[in-house]
Amino acid sequence: MGQTNIIECSRCSGLLLAAGDKKTRTCPYCGARIDTKSARKLASAEDAFTASEVLRELKKQKGFNRTQL
Ligand SMILES: [Zn+2]
Repeated sequence: MGQTNIIECSRCSGLLLAAGDKKTRTCPYCGARIDTKSARKLASAEDAFTASEVLRELKKQKGFNRTQL
């Protein structure tokens, strides 16, 4: 596992992880195919584990889990 980026889906604004060497990624929320190079990158981490931790924090900040409160 190498560098992993946290990117935003251009269609639904969902946050997802993309390995640094991947050119495209399918959004797990809306199914859109995302070009990882042109997608908005919110953060990056040295490995997938750290990236998932960061992703969780970003989702919290974005209020993605609001419905669970
Ligand atoms: Zn999406």
